[in-house]
Amino acid sequence: METEPPDGGAKPSAASAEAAPSNFIRNIVAEDLKQGKNGGRVHTRFPPEPNGYLHIGHAKSICLNFGLAAEFGGMSNLRFDDTNPSKEDIEYVASIKEDVRWLGFDWDDREFYASDYFESLYEFAVRLIRAGKAFVCDLSADQMREYRGTLTEPGKNSPYRNRSIEDSLDLFQRMRAGEFPDGSRTLRAKIDMAAPNINLRDPVMYRVLRATHHRTGDSWCIYPTYDFAHGQSDSIEGITHSICTLEFEDHRPLYDWFLDQLQIHHPQQIEFARLNLTHTVLSKRKLLQLVQQKHVTGWDDPRMPTLAGMRRRGYTPEAIRDFCDRIGVAKRNSTVDIAMLEHCLREDLNKRAPRVMAVLRPVKVVLENYPEGQVEELIAINNPEDPAMGTRKVAFSRVLYIEQDDFREEPPKGFFRLSPGKEARLRYGYIIKCVGVEKDAATGEIRELRCTYDPDTKSGSSQSGRKVKATIHWVSAEHALGAQVRLYEHLFTKEDPDDVPSGTDWLANINSTSLETLADARVESVLADAKPGQRYQFERLGYFCVDENSSAGALVFNRAVSLRDTWAKLEQSKKRL
Ligand code: ATP
Ligand code: MG
Repeated sequence: METEPPDGGAKPSAASAEAAPSNFIRNIVAEDLKQGKNGGRVHTRFPPEPNGYLHIGHAKSICLNFGLAAEFGGMSNLRFDDTNPSKEDIEYVASIKEDVRWLGFDWDDREFYASDYFESLYEFAVRLIRAGKAFVCDLSADQMREYRGTLTEPGKNSPYRNRSIEDSLDLFQRMRAGEFPDGSRTLRAKIDMAAPNINLRDPVMYRVLRATHHRTGDSWCIYPTYDFAHGQSDSIEGITHSICTLEFEDHRPLYDWFLDQLQIHHPQQIEFARLNLTHTVLSKRKLLQLVQQKHVTGWDDPRMPTLAGMRRRGYTPEAIRDFCDRIGVAKRNSTVDIAMLEHCLREDLNKRAPRVMAVLRPVKVVLENYPEGQVEELIAINNPEDPAMGTRKVAFSRVLYIEQDDFREEPPKGFFRLSPGKEARLRYGYIIKCVGVEKDAATGEIRELRCTYDPDTKSGSSQSGRKVKATIHWVSAEHALGAQVRLYEHLFTKEDPDDVPSGTDWLANINSTSLETLADARVESVLADAKPGQRYQFERLGYFCVDENSSAGALVFNRAVSLRDTWAKLEQSKKRL
C-alpha cells in the first residue's frame, strides 16, 4: 500500500478488454432494416421533459438514441415533451441543449417541442370525439379516482361517458375557450373501464389548467396529458423506433390505441431498463428537492449525478459515453456500481490528463544542507502514458512542502514514508532524510520537519539507483501557488439511498461529509493559468478539475476521482474466483 507507483496511473483493467455488451435494441433495428421496414429509415428521438437538468441516466438514453441513429445512417431528434407548464422552465431547456451537445451529439435543425404540436394534438382530440372515442367528463379528480377501480377490481363508467358527440365537441371547444375553471372538466378517451390495464380505463387526454407555458404563453388553458401527447408527437415526427424506459411498457397499449384510432404513422415503442447507480438518486423530483432544500449548491454541484455537475467535477464526455457503452441495454432493471463509472473516468483521464504535483495538507520541510537561495529546475514527465505530452521544469529549493500524511513521527509497522531518522525519495528529486521535528510549544503541532538531502541521489543521475521504499510528492514553498481543493465523497452513505428505517426518508441517507474543503493546498506553479474545466492528475492523489469559479489569483480544484480503482479490483477478484 505504501509504495503506490508515483505516477499512480490506473492499470489496464479486465473491463476494458471486454467487448461492449450486446444490445437487444440494436438487434431489433438491424432486423427491421433487413426486412425493409419503414422504407429503410431509422429515426429516433431523445424526449426530455424540461423540468430539471439531465443526469447520467438520461445520458444512457441519449447515447442509445443518437448512437443508433448514427450507427444505421439515420437521424435523431431532440424533442422537449413540454406538456406540463407548471413544472417546466426555459432554464431547463437551455441546460438540456448544452448538455446533449457537450456529450457529443448533434440534432442539426431537429429541435422540436411537443408544445409546437398543441394545435395538431387538439385536432387529433376532436377527431376522437367525432369518432365517439373520447368524451368530456365533469367528474372531479377525486371522483375520477373513486370510479377508476383498483388493480383487482374493475372501474365504473363515468356518468358523462354517454354524453352525445355534439355535447362533447361543444364542451371541449369551450374548455379551450376558457369558459370553465381549472380542474372542472377533462377530456377522456373512451376505452374500457374494466380493462385489467388501468392505463386503458378511460384515461384523461386534456385538463383545464391556467398556467403560463414557457413557449406558448397564455394562449392555451387546456393542456394535453403526457400520455396523449407523447405517442402522437413521435408519430408527427415520423419516428421509427420510439425507445423509452420500462415504466412505459404498461402505457404502450394506450399509445397503440391512440395511434390506431387516429390511423396515423405508428412508431414502434421499445422499452429498456433505466439506469440505477449505487449511492445515487436519479429521479428529477428528488434531485430538485436536493437543490431546493440546499443539500447541494445547485444542479451543477459536483456531487450531483447531473451532467452539469459531473462536468464541473471533471467528468469527460468520452468517459460517460464509454460508461454507457459498457453498461449495455437490458430489459431487466438492475443497479450499476458507481465504481464502474469512476473507473471509466480514470481510464480516460489516465491517458490524457497532465500530471502535476500538489500538496493538499502541507507540512513544511527544510533541507538543512541545501544552499539558501539556490533553485534547481528538475525535469518532470507530463504524462508517462503519452510521451508526446513532453516534460516540464519544476523548481526545487531549500524549503518545500510535503503532505502531512507522508510523515509519521511514530510510524506504524509497514509505514515506509518519511519518519524521524528515515529516508524517502522526493519525486523527480533527491532522497531526503528526516533529522528533526519542530513543534509548536503550545499546541504540540508539527511546524516543520528538518531534513537533509543526499546530493548524489538526484533522479536520473548515475547514482540515483539507490533504492528507498517510498517516493513522495512535494512542492517548493517559494514557487508553489496557494489553492482551494474540494474533495468529494458519494452524496449518499447507503448503496441504496432509499434503504431507510421506516419513519425516515431517503434524505436521512445524505452523507454529511460528502464535501471536504481544503483551503490551504499548494500546487505547482505550472498551474498559474489553469483554466476552468481543465483536468490534471495530482500525483498520488487523484484527478482534479479546475472549478468554474477558479481564477489565476484564487485557484479552485475539484477532485473528480481518486486514484484508487475499486472497480478494477472488483473485476480482478471476480476473475480469480
Ligand atoms: P422522472 O424521473 O421525473 O420520471 P424522467 O427522468 O423520466 O423523469 P424525462 O425527461 O421524461 O425524465 O426523460 C427523458 C428520457 O430519458 C426518457 O426517454 C426517459 O425514459 C429517459 N430516462 C430518464 N431516466 C433514465 C434513466 N435513469 N436511465 C435511462 N433512461 C432514462
Ligand atoms: Mg419521464
